[in-house]
Formats: sequence, C-alpha cells, structure tokens
Amino acid sequence: MPDLLTHYAISLLITVIALRSYLSVIVALSGLLPDIDAFLSIHRSPTHSLLLSAPITLISLYLYTRNMGSKLRKILFLTSTLYTLHILMDLAWSPTPILWPLTDQGYYLSIDISGGRVGDKISISASINLVTSEHGIGSSSGGPLIDPHTWLISLIIVFISLFMLKIIVRRETRSI
Ligand SMILES: [Zn+2]
Repeated sequence: MPDLLTHYAISLLITVIALRSYLSVIVALSGLLPDIDAFLSIHRSPTHSLLLSAPITLISLYLYTRNMGSKLRKILFLTSTLYTLHILMDLAWSPTPILWPLTDQGYYLSIDISGGRVGDKISISASINLVTSEHGIGSSSGGPLIDPHTWLISLIIVFISLFMLKIIVRRETRSI
C-alpha cells in the first residue's frame, strides 16, 4: 500500500489546486481516512470498499454541481473524492476489498508494461487487469507510516503543494 505520507501528498496537491485556500491542509487529511482501520490493528477492512465510498462521492458530486458556488459542498465533494482516491491507490499496490459486502475477497490491479524494438520500430504495450486475490478482508496488518522508497518524492510533492498554496493565497489576497 502507499504509505500515509504518499496518500497525504497526493491529496494535498489535489486539494490545493481545487480549493485554493489554507483549508486545503486540513481537507487533505480526508485522503487518510480509509486507514483509520489500522487503529484496530487490521488493514483493508470495509473502510476500503468502493461500494460504500463511490455512491457517497457521486451524491456529493451531484450536490456540488447543483450549487457550484458553495464552498461547503465543494469541501464535501473533495473529501469524498479523496477518500475514494485512497482506495484506488491502494488497489494499485495490493489486495483491497473493494466489493465488500458483496464479497470479502481482495482485488488488485496488475499493471504490465512491455516493449521492444521490432525492426526500425519501437513498440510499447501496456495492460491493466483487475485480479482477484486470495488475500481478503483484514488480511493485511497495515503498511509503514513512511515508506523508505517513496518518502522523498512524497515530501517534495508536499513542499511543492505548500509553495503553490502560498502563492495562490497571496495572489487572491492582493486581488481583493
Ligand atoms: Zn489504505
């Protein structure tokens, strides 16, 4: 699974671009919510079900599009979207029970990219498959808080997001 810092970095970048306010720093924390199950010493619990999160995201999108000017609806939409994005990121890493309660089984995305040179042409092909795993719900006890392989790039994304946020807020304050 992506570590908490990676989840937060991606959530912060999206929130800064969408919300353009210092509130972004707090709203981005919603991208960590599915891992609240780690406090129960399990991971990949029903908090990682797309069947539960996707309808909430669609409802919040509907509410947001009915009143685009409402900051509260925008925050609700962002919060539910970041929650669902967390599940999709986990899905690309390891088995996740996205179809709970229909099944306890975990699923993950198998991504294969291959390429080669054929004559004077270079060919690249990619395939993405949704694979069923024998590791189902609660099979993972959680990953690291900070992954030694990704912490640096995640930290850079956090700093870039905060720098962008500072510029955005300064510009909008001047234009008032
Ligand atoms: Zn997770």
